[in-house]
Formats: sequence, C-alpha cells, structure tokens
Amino acid sequence: MNRSLPFSKEEITAINQNHPTPFHIYDQKAIQKNAEAFLNAFAWAPGGFRNYFAVKALPNPHILKMLHSQGMGADCSSMAELILAEKVGMRGEEIMFTSNDTPMDEYEKALELGAVINLDDISHLDFIKQGPGLPELLCFRYNPGPLKEGNAIIGSPEEAKYGFTREQLKEGYRKASAWGVTRFGLHTMVASNELNADYFIETAVLLIDLVKEISEELDINFEFINLGGGIGIPYKAEEKAVDLKYVSAGIKKYYSKILSGTKLDGIKIYMECGRMVTGPYGYLVTKAIHKKDTYKHYIGVDACMADLMRPGLYGAYHHITIPGKENLSEDHTYDVVGSLCENNDKFAINRPLPLIEADDFIVIHDTGAHGSAMGFNYNGKLRPAELLLMEDGSVKEIRRKETIEDYFATLDFATL
Ligand SMILES: *Cc1c(COP(=O)(O)O)cnc(C)c1O
Repeated sequence: MNRSLPFSKEEITAINQNHPTPFHIYDQKAIQKNAEAFLNAFAWAPGGFRNYFAVKALPNPHILKMLHSQGMGADCSSMAELILAEKVGMRGEEIMFTSNDTPMDEYEKALELGAVINLDDISHLDFIKQGPGLPELLCFRYNPGPLKEGNAIIGSPEEAKYGFTREQLKEGYRKASAWGVTRFGLHTMVASNELNADYFIETAVLLIDLVKEISEELDINFEFINLGGGIGIPYKAEEKAVDLKYVSAGIKKYYSKILSGTKLDGIKIYMECGRMVTGPYGYLVTKAIHKKDTYKHYIGVDACMADLMRPGLYGAYHHITIPGKENLSEDHTYDVVGSLCENNDKFAINRPLPLIEADDFIVIHDTGAHGSAMGFNYNGKLRPAELLLMEDGSVKEIRRKETIEDYFATLDFATL
C-alpha cells in the first residue's frame, strides 16, 4: 500500500498560508485516473456499464461535476442529494434514486428529474401510485435474506432493514407490470467497505440468476442489474485494494455463460460505488496544537470528530503521516485526539508515530469518502473547508469553512 502524500511539507505549508487547518484536500488527478480505470475495467459490458457515484460519500458539486464529465451518474437517497445532482447538470437516467423510508416529496422530485426509481419496499408501489403516479421504469432492491448453502460470503442480509424478499420481488414486478410499468431493473447491496473481490462476483451471479428466473417466469424484460456500492478500500497498510479487473472478468464469464443468446444478452450493468472512487484520494490536514502526558501520551490537534467521524463512530483505522517526518522512526506512541467533550474523539489510539512537535502537520489519510460528508456540529464545532489539489499544484477551494454565523443561522436571538 502506497502511503506517500501528493504534497510535500513545503507545499502543504504554502497551501496553509491561505487555508487555515483543518481542511480536507482531494487529489483531482488521482481521482480522475482511478475513475477512468474503474470505468475501463467494465467497458466490455455489451449493453453498457455505469457507475452511479454515491453522492453521500462526497457530496460536493465540483467532484460530482468532474465524475459526471467522466461518464458517471449519481446515486441519491435524499432531497439534497437529488438537488445536487440536478445542479451539476445530471438529468433523467443519469440519476439513480436508491432511498429507503422515503418521504413523498423526495419521490416527487426524483420523478420530476426523470431519475431511475429504485424501490426499497413493495408497499412503496401503492405509495407512489397514490401520489405522483408510477414511472415507466422501476427498479427493486433485493434483500437475499438467509441464503442457500455455498453463498455464505454474503453475510447476514436478514438483519438489514433494506430491500424486498424474493417472494415480494415477484409479486412487485407482477403488480407493477399490471399497473403499466414496462421497463425494469434489479438491485441489491448487502455489504459495505468489502475488500473480498469474490463477494462482488457472487453478487452479480445472484442478480444474473434472478433476472433470468423472473423474466422467464413473469415474461418481463430487464434493462439492467445494479450491484450497488460497497467496494472497500485498504485503510490499513496490510490490506489490498479490490482487483477490479478480476471482479470484471468474473462477472463477464458468468454473464456470457448464462445470458448470451438469451433475450437478456445486452442487459446493462450498474454500480453505485462511492468509497472506492474518491476515498483514498482525500486527506484531512490538521495541526498539533497541544501535547499532553498523563497515563498516556496525547497529541491534541485542531480537528475533531466533527471533521472525520469514522474513527470515533466505528473505531475505524485511518493512516497518519507527519509531513517532513516520513523517514523518521516511529518510536513514540500517541493517542491523536480532538477537542470534543467525548472520549471517543480520537483519530488514533496507541499509534506508533515519530516525535510530534507543536505546529507539525498531522495528515489523516483516506478521507475522500464518508469523511467531510459525515461532518456534524456537536459542541458547536464548525465543519471544515474542502480543497481540490489541481494537477499543476494549485489549490481550489470547493467548500469554504463553516462560520459561527452559519452555525447560528437557524436561531433567532431577537425573540429572546
Ligand atoms: C452508501 C451506499 C452506496 C455507496 O457505498 P460505498 O461504500 O461508498 O461504495 C451505494 N448505494 C447505496 C444504496 C448506499 O446506501
């Protein structure tokens, strides 16, 4: 796993002159290169391949616009995410609306945009029919539940709140078809941050078998299978990225075997990956402001869990680099902590690092997805800026830091 930074200590010091820490910085060229490799890996798909970037992973219009220009769509699950996709110029079937527990106004907005509607539950057929009315194209989200033997790799989907049962799928397609829906898709997503490549082949096998079975049984046609997101990234040094070429080859083999020569030959393949598209190419840049020695050694930084929730929320590992000290031995053991009045506000626990001094930059890796996006305001902490590091080394501010005025904007002190 390559742990080098796309900037030197001198470069980040120069960026810091105009942009106070903490901020997230995204490597534009690396995101583009990775997106291109991803799309190329599936270029064989006879009917086409599309990744709908999961907006929740990095809901910044500059990033969405860039990915859109490379051919990606947007996977949305809320009003704000639909509006973001609309604002960057995405239209119609470039938008996938994979939501759950969905309010009516969000269905109305998705239908107005012509988005692909991916239903989470069979009862939503009636819900939409009684509201704005059903579209011509519908996708259903499958929850495979307790699986048959030999498919243990998929874990325990029966514990997940999402999706239709197998019986509900058939009933749903039958009902939708009777109500005039003519175009269909099938979706599933039952894991997150998964590094086992075979898992994604298994998911495709499951969906290919199922569209074949349902299309024969109900005499309906399917336009796409949507394998969802969930491709993991190697947060830890010993982990390895998912080999997309291997996944692609595995899917291709089964697709050809089962579908070639049938009326489903040419069915499109969709995904909704967020994390693997941008995750490894974002960095939270913060500074050491305090050093505290009690029962343990602490480094207090000027960022907190409000800037990056994953370590506090899931105990997730995020690699840390001290620019300029990459080659020093990691002979100190620190807890790297933020300022929230919450003891789980720690970016790292018992982490071997080189000696850290006041004003050292502390760079936290892999914050390009589910990082800034999960920001929150607990303790009145303000959300950080987002910067885009351009190929020529310049920096574009793509989200300004929140201000105290933003924080107080929903309060009316005049009515005290
Ligand atoms: C979160 C989510 C994704 C994206 O997941 P990643 O781990 O970022 O790839 C895709 N689809 C749905 C329905 C999701 O909830």
